[in-house]
Amino acid sequence: LTLPPPRTRIFKIIVIGDSGVGKTCLTYRFCAGKFPEKTEATIGVDFRERLVEIDGEKIKIQLWDTAGQERFRKSMVQHYYRNVHAVVFVYDVTNAASFRSLPAWIEECKQHALGTEVPRILVGNKCDLQDSVQVGTDVAQQFADAHSMPLFETSAKSPNSLGDGNYRNSDHVEAIF
Ligand code: GDP
Ligand code: MG
Repeated sequence: LTLPPPRTRIFKIIVIGDSGVGKTCLTYRFCAGKFPEKTEATIGVDFRERLVEIDGEKIKIQLWDTAGQERFRKSMVQHYYRNVHAVVFVYDVTNAASFRSLPAWIEECKQHALGTEVPRILVGNKCDLQDSVQVGTDVAQQFADAHSMPLFETSAKSPNSLGDGNYRNSDHVEAIF
């Protein structure tokens, strides 16, 4: 008797936030292991995958990247928000407006049944730009607490700047996932 090989389970994670916060760079970093040399503005929806092994089981992590500013057309929205296992909200620590947009993104997810019942995390990206920070850790942590999400401050660009204590919860983007 030969058993068929076990099917790889797929975990779909959507990455949401304003245009320019670094969603494409973060997903690229996670799936390709490096910062992309150049990125083009994401058009519509795109996804990247990475196989990880958890407890001896191979699991495919599928990160869905989007064009932040554009609201998708209705047909696309349905596709995007279907069968989601987790949501990553991203803001740019050097851009206060991207932080102020978060309630609207959270609300949009709730409208698609992605509220507190799915794992959601908050990610402050670009922590390598320490001189330009506009969104401090305290205010971000308060917001994260109010929305029952863990906060990770990180950088898609320089994730390994160890020793300065600046990327508080995570100094490596992989720790997010
Ligand atoms: P998206 O629109 O959210 O997908 O943002 P992108 O991933 O395209 O990044 C927007 C810009 O921010 C690009 O110029 C990136 O090179 C830059 N960027 C992204 N992540 C980081 C980061 O962690 N640190 C710095 N310094 N720049 C970043
Ligand atoms: Mg993009």
